Amino acid sequence: MKKFLSLLLCVAMLMGCAGAVAEGWNDGTTTGTAAGLFGDITVEVTVENGAITAINLVKTNETENIWNTAWPTVADAIIAAQSTDVDVVSGATFASNGIMNAVKVALGEIEGETKEEAVLPESADVVIIGGGGAGLTAAVTAAQAGSSVVLVEKMGALGGNTKIAGQGFNAADPARQEKMEMDSALVETLKAYLELDPADFGDFGPVLETVKGQINDYLASGATYLFDTPELHMLHCYMGGTRTGLNGETISPDLALIDVFAHGANDSLTWLESIGGAWNDTTSTILGAMWPRSHGLANGNVIDTLQAAAEKEGVQIFVNTAATELVVDDNGAVTGVVVETENGEKKTITANKGVVLASGGFAANAPLVVEYNNYWPGLSDTMASTNAHGITGDGILMAREIGAELTGMGYAQLMPSSAPSDGSLFTGIWGSAEGQLFVNKEGKRYVNEYAERDVLAKAALEQTDGLFFIICDNDVVGTVDPARVKQLEEGGYVYTADTLEELAEKMGVPADVLVETVNTYNQYTLDKHDPEFGKELFGTTIDEAPFSATPRSPSLHHTMGGVKIDTDTHVINTNGEVIKGLYAAGEVCGGIHAGNRLGGNAMTDFLVFGRIAGQNAADCK
Ligand code: ADP
Repeated sequence: MKKFLSLLLCVAMLMGCAGAVAEGWNDGTTTGTAAGLFGDITVEVTVENGAITAINLVKTNETENIWNTAWPTVADAIIAAQSTDVDVVSGATFASNGIMNAVKVALGEIEGETKEEAVLPESADVVIIGGGGAGLTAAVTAAQAGSSVVLVEKMGALGGNTKIAGQGFNAADPARQEKMEMDSALVETLKAYLELDPADFGDFGPVLETVKGQINDYLASGATYLFDTPELHMLHCYMGGTRTGLNGETISPDLALIDVFAHGANDSLTWLESIGGAWNDTTSTILGAMWPRSHGLANGNVIDTLQAAAEKEGVQIFVNTAATELVVDDNGAVTGVVVETENGEKKTITANKGVVLASGGFAANAPLVVEYNNYWPGLSDTMASTNAHGITGDGILMAREIGAELTGMGYAQLMPSSAPSDGSLFTGIWGSAEGQLFVNKEGKRYVNEYAERDVLAKAALEQTDGLFFIICDNDVVGTVDPARVKQLEEGGYVYTADTLEELAEKMGVPADVLVETVNTYNQYTLDKHDPEFGKELFGTTIDEAPFSATPRSPSLHHTMGGVKIDTDTHVINTNGEVIKGLYAAGEVCGGIHAGNRLGGNAMTDFLVFGRIAGQNAADCK
């Protein structure tokens, strides 16, 4: 019977049938490879008596934070369900699908991809370093302008941080916003802006004057549509980006760059549509955006749209190929790039027209962040990162090597709550922010758990080892799949216990202090009043077993600093001169976001400046 089933399966596979099969796979151990978020995932699958009994990992390129979210949950679910179509793990969709597809390939349910080995060319008009949002945008633009384009990407897949980012895009957009209604709280905010003094806004003072005029005109007109202008966007960049460093110096965005940025946003929105992107009909405010001008994509990840356009325009893309050096001629002009392939082979690609640096920031390189840090007290050079592996500042270092000026390097954004071991974001147990209780290694509360991200990150860094625990009880633990709880415990991400004393022992904190802290917090919750830290919103009391503690630490998320550029995206050297032949766009650049990037401004940044860089590199010489 088993043989017959296997035979049927083989016939089905020969006929190209794919999909989940309840049982009856061929016995044996086979490997399968499929694409994850950052390259191939290879697994080894064992089938005994027609059932999947083991799935082992052979190779993955995924970042630890994404991988640890998906693995082994998906592999275990496949074995438990004896199905190759199981639920994706939230926060790790690409990795989850990659695991399922690799298993399907191993089992012969779908065919593996065969890749042709392309040969790196000696030269191209434009050479682009980095295949994230900025690099792909520049590549498409340069190719549209008629240039031959080579793009090198050091990781096994395109996308960089852009692929794992929230996909929000800020632009003042009359077409959408004039169809939306203004909120009364926003009217009050506008009225408050009328009270601001331009003298407090440095070289952005005239921008504030313009905005005040626009607000007055709007209010006088009696209009009720959602007010917005590029100048208001500029003002928000100034307000959100102005920060004072540990050395007492205050940093603000570069006015000229922000002018181009805010006024170019709407055009970039239309450009993305022209290459296949589709935006939602209305705008919203993503976290930290300061105004409802955030656009969401209606048709998936922006990288997919850009990659498809780049392939259509004939951009030659080489993954697993890292730029290691910029080639400079006797006149100081950049004329090419030295690259290194996966097997260690080095080659120079000559750029007939220009080189675009689009290698992203350096939040996956903690020692470099610490070397320049001018914002966070007590930053550790072993701090984990939420970033893709490749975001190590290579482009910034290569440019520094040839005399580029760097700016704003001391400012990095932290994600306040991630796993201390690997920076993963979703490997823990907690409910909504108002119900969370944070305690430090001494078992004590130290912050209003409902505060803003940078307040939470700063407070956490001030605790012993920069570590804190999120404490929950059955109200939250009971909502999590017990199998997931077990996996999190086994992975060292979570402690659970039936008493607070036992929990304290596992956490390594004094039991009497933890019990006292929880009791006090419960009283604040009942009183809806927190005299210690001013928390205003509360969840339920923490008093029902099982209890859980999730260790957390801040992790590196986004770097604001990088190479200095002008409004044509030329990279500027330490003498304030243009480095001929070298352009830069995206997170590799400094000066735009200054001390703090607004949520939703990264995509605007790479689309606006990526297009300028691509166009100017294509027009160079
Ligand atoms: P941005 O938003 O600025 O485009 P991303 O993080 O999305 O930033 O993309 C940067 C890309 O550059 C990543 O895919 C990263 O792997 C790639 N990269 C980083 N360093 C190099 C390098 N030395 N050579 C080629 N690609 C690189």
